[in-house]
Amino acid sequence: MGELLYKSTRGHGPAITSSKAILGGLAEDGGLYVPEKIPKLDVGFDALSEMSYKEVAYEVMKLFLTDYTRDELTECINGAYDEKFDTDNIVEMHYADGVYFLELYHGSTIAFKDMALSILPRLMTVAAKKNGVLDDIVILTATSGDTGKAAMAGFADVPGTKIIVFYPKDGVSAVQERQMVTQRGANTYVVGVHGNFDDAQSGVKSMFGDAELKKKLADAGYRFSSANSINVGRLVPQVVYYVYAYSHLVGTGAVKNGEFINVAVPTGNFGNILAAHYAKLMGTPIKTLICASNDNRVLTDFFETGVYDRDRRFYTTSSPSMDILVSSNLERLIYSATGGDASENSAYMKSLSETGRYAITNAERRVIDKFGFVGGCAVESEVAEQISKLWHIDRYVIDTHTAVASCVCDKYRAASKDTTPTVIASTASPYKFARSVVSAMTGRDTRSDDDFALIDELESTSGIKAPSAIDEIRTAEVRHRRVCERDGMKDTVAEILGIKL
Ligand SMILES: *Cc1c(COP(=O)(O)O)cnc(C)c1O
Repeated sequence: MGELLYKSTRGHGPAITSSKAILGGLAEDGGLYVPEKIPKLDVGFDALSEMSYKEVAYEVMKLFLTDYTRDELTECINGAYDEKFDTDNIVEMHYADGVYFLELYHGSTIAFKDMALSILPRLMTVAAKKNGVLDDIVILTATSGDTGKAAMAGFADVPGTKIIVFYPKDGVSAVQERQMVTQRGANTYVVGVHGNFDDAQSGVKSMFGDAELKKKLADAGYRFSSANSINVGRLVPQVVYYVYAYSHLVGTGAVKNGEFINVAVPTGNFGNILAAHYAKLMGTPIKTLICASNDNRVLTDFFETGVYDRDRRFYTTSSPSMDILVSSNLERLIYSATGGDASENSAYMKSLSETGRYAITNAERRVIDKFGFVGGCAVESEVAEQISKLWHIDRYVIDTHTAVASCVCDKYRAASKDTTPTVIASTASPYKFARSVVSAMTGRDTRSDDDFALIDELESTSGIKAPSAIDEIRTAEVRHRRVCERDGMKDTVAEILGIKL
């Protein structure tokens, strides 16, 4: 097996090892690292269907992270997927309303980000050792609500690291905010930005590209990396659960080995669905990749028209982790649609940052269609109806993000008459968004209800015990109170790290 190297979607600089790509996060030219090719699974699904989650994780990750030894990878996997998850299976599959819900929220922060962020810090510390990095790694992260907490939970008190999280001050759920501001760990910092997620993300991206800042950091013994889904070390662990889901369906006899499935993913930054695409390219029989958006339907329009246009109204919805107008990981798809033409991709990204839009060619659109992507969106009233429907038909409670995907999936099935077995990525526990979920289930206006009273109500109505992550924040002390303006992010980082700008 040869070594798999990673190169930037913007084409400058040499191809590098997976451990270097994980350490770097974003490429120096502002591009995203992509593997030179997507490896093929070298074990069949009959064999995979007999394996545990950790074993499947090894089979997938060894193919992408070829400069990690077997022992290193196994240690990372075993340390990540342990009792922090509230099920031994790590993920669960629940059949309801004719589709399979792949529950990715059984980790410590009750959203799917745990799937990758419980292993990323381990992959990163191994990478630092491998590459002789002595500087402290400063993880800079923008979060739409879930990444921040999951990343801090992963990095808290990890020696040689600090983590600084920026979140939109008024753009996350109460539980999300409380989870973040109560985070323990002497190396964790949380900052509320007066702006939306795109503001936070572009602030972080510009710090990554700031050569002068980088130099000052290096002088102080620091280097930046990213825990956002642009990091290869997040993308690869996310491929695992699509391979696992298919294996599981084969194992239970729900699909025959080789039979196609469709996958529907509630999408924001395009990381999760890109992982499904990679799973498909590895050999998982996935036909259609249903990319589901909320009112912020920039991706739906892109798949319909080939034009990406972020210049539009930004909606704050009940699925805040998808309130995004600039989906970073789409760049990886665009790059492959151009046939790996870094200069064409760079031109699109330049146009996006300068004019707010770009239009891909018809040939490129055909490539994306052939990959099997379709887009769709659900408005707020549809999201609430979907939660209510699942609850009343099947006594199954889903969160608002999952409901977006479930609704878009229903619409796709009705319009296309496609009856392929479908897996819906279920990305958060309903407890994380109790206000919207209880309102949808009961039809009541819950806007002025107390958050914890709503959680208690959800518990008694659904009969599903609230996860321990919820109990933890009931009494936890608020430890982070920093806020800043959109243009004050760099100063805040300098202040935290004690460097002069
Ligand atoms: C992050 C997140 C999403 C969006 O995932 P992307 O990989 O950014 O597309 C969807 N749902 C929940 C609950 C999330 O936390």
